[in-house]
Amino acid sequence: MTIAATSPYRVDATGYYGPFGGAYVPEMLYPNVEELRDNYLRIIQEPEFQREFTQLLTDYVGRPTPLFLARRLSAHYGTTIYLKREDLCHTGAHKVNNTIGQILVAKRLGKKRIVAETGAGQHGVATATVCALMGLECIVYMGEIDIERQKPNVDRMRMLGAKVVPATSGSKTLKDATNEAMRHWISNPTDTHYIIGSVVGPHPYPDMVARFQSVISAETISQLLHQTGRGTPDFMLACVGGGSNAAGAFYHYLDEPSVRLVAAEAAGKGVNTGHSAATTALGKPGILHGASTILMQTADGQVTEPYSISAGLDYPGIGPQHAHLFATGRAEFLSITDKQALDAGFQLSRLEGIIPALETAHALACLPLIGAKPDEVVVVCLSGRGDKDLATYTKHLEEYA
Ligand SMILES: *Cc1c(COP(=O)(O)O)cnc(C)c1O
Repeated sequence: MTIAATSPYRVDATGYYGPFGGAYVPEMLYPNVEELRDNYLRIIQEPEFQREFTQLLTDYVGRPTPLFLARRLSAHYGTTIYLKREDLCHTGAHKVNNTIGQILVAKRLGKKRIVAETGAGQHGVATATVCALMGLECIVYMGEIDIERQKPNVDRMRMLGAKVVPATSGSKTLKDATNEAMRHWISNPTDTHYIIGSVVGPHPYPDMVARFQSVISAETISQLLHQTGRGTPDFMLACVGGGSNAAGAFYHYLDEPSVRLVAAEAAGKGVNTGHSAATTALGKPGILHGASTILMQTADGQVTEPYSISAGLDYPGIGPQHAHLFATGRAEFLSITDKQALDAGFQLSRLEGIIPALETAHALACLPLIGAKPDEVVVVCLSGRGDKDLATYTKHLEEYA
C-alpha cells in the first residue's frame, strides 16, 4: 500500500484538508509554529530520527502491538473481528507513540523544556514519561477541576518528575488548560516545545501527530496480511476524541476505498440531551485551538462545554482531517451513548478477558451497528486499557451482574 502523492484526504502544501486546517494563531505564537512547520518533515524523515524513533517504539513502548483475533466476540457478532492492541503500549494507550515522536523533534530543535495540556491526564502522563526518559523539564497544564477528578494521573505525573500547573480560568477544564499552555509557549518561544496530545491544533500538529500514530495502520497491514492473506480489512473502527488513534488507524487506508472507516464519537447521555460530545452530529465549522474544523458551539459562536462518561472523548471539536473525512463522506461517524459504551466495555471484558478504556468502548459499541457480514473482516483500534476507568465501571457492576 503506497501513499498517493496527491491524496484528497491528506494535508496539502498550505496546511489544509479541504476547507479545514490551517494555523489560526496569535501573532505572538507565529514564530514557534513557523519553526515547527519549516522543520518537522525534514527532521522526521532523517534516517537517524527514524532509527531512534523505531528503536524506542520497539524497546520502550513494546511495539509492534499484537493484532488479536477475538474469537468469542467474532462468534457473537457473526463476523471476523481483530483487535489492534494499543492498550499494551507502555503507559496503557496509544498516546505515547506521539509523545516519543515529538520529544525527539523537540531535542533536534534544541529545546530544553516541554509544556503540555491534559484533560483526563493520559496525555500528561505520556508526556511526563518521555520527559523523564530524555531528561527534559516538563510542565503540564491541567484544569483545576480535572486535577480533582483525575487524582491518580496527577500523582503519576508528579511521580515522573513533572510539574502540574492548575488552570484556574474559565470552566477550569481542558480548553482552559490548552489556553494556558499556549500562553506559556508564547512567553518562552526559544527554549520550549509544546507537545499537543492529539491531531488538533495549528498546522503542522495534526499532520505530525498523524504521522507518528500511523505506525498503528502500518503494523495492521503486515499483521493482517500474515494472518489472513490480505492487508486490508473491510472495516476499521476507532473512537475519536481529538482523533489521534483514529488518524493512525486510518492513515494507510485513506486511499483504499474498499476499507470502510468508522469513527465513534461520544453522544454522552444522548445527542440531543445537551450532555454530549457528538461533534459531527451537533457541530458547525469554526476555529478551535488554532485550526479551522467542526466544533460544538452556540448560535453566536461560543464553544459549548462537552460531556462524556469518558474523559478522553470529552472535547468539543475534532481534528481538521477528521472534519474533512466527515464532510467528504470518506469516514462514517457514529454517535455512541455512555450506556452503549458501558455495554461494550463489559461485553469485551466478559468475552475476551480484556478491560478496555471507556474511550475505546465507544469504538467497540459500533460492532452491532455496522452490519459486518460473516465473510468480512473488522479491525477495532483498541486505543487503551481500562484500569484508569475501573471506578466508573464499578459503579455499574450491578447492572451487568
Ligand atoms: C486520549 C484517549 C483517546 C482519545 O484521543 P484521540 O486523540 O481521539 O485518540 C482515546 N482512547 C484512549 C485510551 C485515550 O487515552
